Formats: sequence, structure tokens, C-alpha cells
Amino acid sequence: MNILVINAGSSSLKYQLIDMNGEKVLAKGLCDRIGLSGSVIKHKTHDGRAIEKEIVMSNHLDAIKQLIAVLTDEQVGVIKSLDEINAVGHRVVHGGEKFFSSVVINDEVLKTIEECEELAPLHNPPNVTGIKACTEIMKGVPQVAVFDTAFHQTMPKKAYIYALPYEYYEKYKLRKYGFHGTSHKYVSERAAVLLNKPYDQLKIVTCHLGNGSSITAVDCGKSVETSMGFTPLDGLAMGTRCGTIDPAAVTFLMNKEKLTTEQMDEIMNKKSGVYGISGVSSDFRDLDDAVEKGNERAELALQIFAYQVKKYIGAYACAMGGLDAVVFTAGIGENNPGIRQRICSNLEFLGIKIDPEKNKIRGAEIDISAEGAKVRTLVIPTNEELAIAKETIRLIGR
Ligand code: AMP
Repeated sequence: MNILVINAGSSSLKYQLIDMNGEKVLAKGLCDRIGLSGSVIKHKTHDGRAIEKEIVMSNHLDAIKQLIAVLTDEQVGVIKSLDEINAVGHRVVHGGEKFFSSVVINDEVLKTIEECEELAPLHNPPNVTGIKACTEIMKGVPQVAVFDTAFHQTMPKKAYIYALPYEYYEKYKLRKYGFHGTSHKYVSERAAVLLNKPYDQLKIVTCHLGNGSSITAVDCGKSVETSMGFTPLDGLAMGTRCGTIDPAAVTFLMNKEKLTTEQMDEIMNKKSGVYGISGVSSDFRDLDDAVEKGNERAELALQIFAYQVKKYIGAYACAMGGLDAVVFTAGIGENNPGIRQRICSNLEFLGIKIDPEKNKIRGAEIDISAEGAKVRTLVIPTNEELAIAKETIRLIGR
């Protein structure tokens, strides 16, 4: 049973073909610079064959044609024909208030996803284009949409309503939605397995710390609070995103610097976060290097990031009225022991204490708690593609 997982962005499209008998990634790749000059496809197979070639891809339909061509290619292919793709799972960023879980795509579902475009104008349109392209090329192959927002649809109203005039929620559906839901769900479920406890009896804080970062309170298997909001700009300071700031700072800066909304958006999304603070980089490896060389603003950026994560853990333990486990995942959460150490320091009063030796391990599923710690601290590599493929199988019922 082969599932093709598609993650379509505005000018790129990532894919994986996963054989679900054994959960083996047969091939994965990236179509980059779609619709731009120098578009390129990069493709790798499970047995080390690879290809990277410049090829014209004017749109997502071209990109899907190209990825099918490499998947079925004599040299770098892993299947003989399209018939060996049993279903397609699509990552869709925004499901609004319409989707509480993944769905099999039909005309009505596609129309509803299109209606959510206003909520995610950068992300949903390429997702829809990817779905339409697959429908055209792979006629009759079932397709499933897996939403970044769906896991958070269990949040109570008190968590997702903003303290703005209520009519804006009614008029525009302006509220907290939360993102990275597939990852938070996947790692919290894995945590229950690793802890050998029922998922619906655990209070878990999941920290997805990557270039984009978010934290979720998972209470008895349900997301009850999360740090990203109406958009993925809210919450933590991230690679280049500012996260939560005083909303009045936005109008202040726009007035002072005579900025348009687009320019302000660009500053908050692309020029802020640890990059903006440090002036060095959005990548935590570069920041670590700079700190070693004595760069004080890089050090400040790391302190701010870790301090904010620490505060969310405390807040979410309060929101849930308890805490059994903290999970670290994504690029930084999985691979940066220094940040994990900074976050977990001085949290013994909450029951969190990590073992410095175990914490040295990177990129593996491991319990890094110190012996006797009341709260378990786990590192769990996320695998959104596998989660999407599993959802696809569950929904097509095979
Ligand atoms: P992501 O968006 O999940 O890919 O995460 C990107 C961030 O993770 C960057 O700030 C990187 O510094 C960090 N990261 C990713 N891989 C590694 C690694 N192998 N070692 C250290 N940091 C990593």
C-alpha cells in the first residue's frame, strides 16, 4: 500500500512516497522554484539513488507531472506506474472552523477548503492547486486532506476568542486557530506509547521548536491551548517571526517609520525573531557559533527564546491543572541540547529535571528526564509525512 504525501507551498512542493507495509519511505523529494526561472526537482530514493535536475515547472500541475515522472523513472524510480500509488495525502494548512479532523477530498470538501483561503492567503491556495493537479493526473485515486489546524479545534472558546469586539469573530472568524497540529498530535500520541500510559489520561506540553515554533497543551488527548493564533505569527519568538508583542507596538512603528501594512508584515514575519534580535541568523546553529565567539546579541536571542518556552510550559501546566510530560520536537527541539537545557533549568519545582548526559543525544526518541523526576521530559522526532500517510490510510479504510 503506497501513499503519496504532498506538501505544496507557493513556489515549492515536497513529496514522499511511503510504503505503509513497514512504514518505509520509498522516495522523497522537492520541486523548487515552481513558476520561477531555474525550477528544479531534487529526488532521493531509499537505496541511495538520487537526481537533481533543472526542468521547466510553470505551475503545480507541471511539478506533479515531474515528480510522477521521477517516481516511475527507470533509473531513479521506485514504482513502475501510477497504478502503484494507492492514495494521496495532502498537507493543508488551514481548515478554519469547518474541519475537526482529516477528510477524504470530494468536490464539496475542495470548495470548503477554498472558502478557508481568506484565512491563509499564502498557504491554502497552493494546497488547493496541488489537490487539483493530483485530481487531474491521478483520476480516481482517493485523496485525503490533513489540516494543520484540525487538532486544535478541540480548544475551548475561552482559549480561542480574542478580547476584541465579538462581532469580528462573528463577521470574519477572527480567532485563535493554532498550527503544527499534525506534529503536536503525532508526538503527543508517541509520548503516550513511550510512557506506556493511556493517551486520554495524560497532561502533555508539546514543544515544536523549529524555524517556526509553537507549543501546545494536550490534555487527555485533546489540544486545549496552543501558542500560535489567527496566523502562525503569534506566540514564541521564532527564526524570523516576532511572536507575541504588544499590539500597540505595531501601530507605533507603522506611524514612526511610515510603513505600509505589507512592510510591517514583512518586518514581523521575515526580519524579527532571533534573527532580528541577534542580527546574525535565524538558524540556531549559527547562533550557537556566534555565542561561542562572544556575540552578546546572539546570546540574548537564545535567552529570550528559552525564557519564552519556559513561560509557556508553566502557563500550560496551570491551564491543564497538572503536567505529566514535556515533549521536545522539530529541528531545534530534537537537535539542540543547549536550548533544552536552558528551557528546563530551574523547573524542578514543577517536577521537570533533565539528565545532562541523556540530554546530549540528538535526533532520537529518548526520555531525557533525570531519575526520579515527576514530570517526564521526552525528545520525539516529529514525522508529519508519516502522520499524514497514516491518516490517509485510516480514512480510505484499507
Ligand atoms: P525546522 O524548521 O524544524 O527544520 O528547524 C530548523 C532549526 O532547527 C534551525 O534553527 C536549525 O538550527 C535547527 N536544526 C535542524 N537540524 C539540526 C541539527 N542536525 N543540529 C542542530 N540544529 C538543527
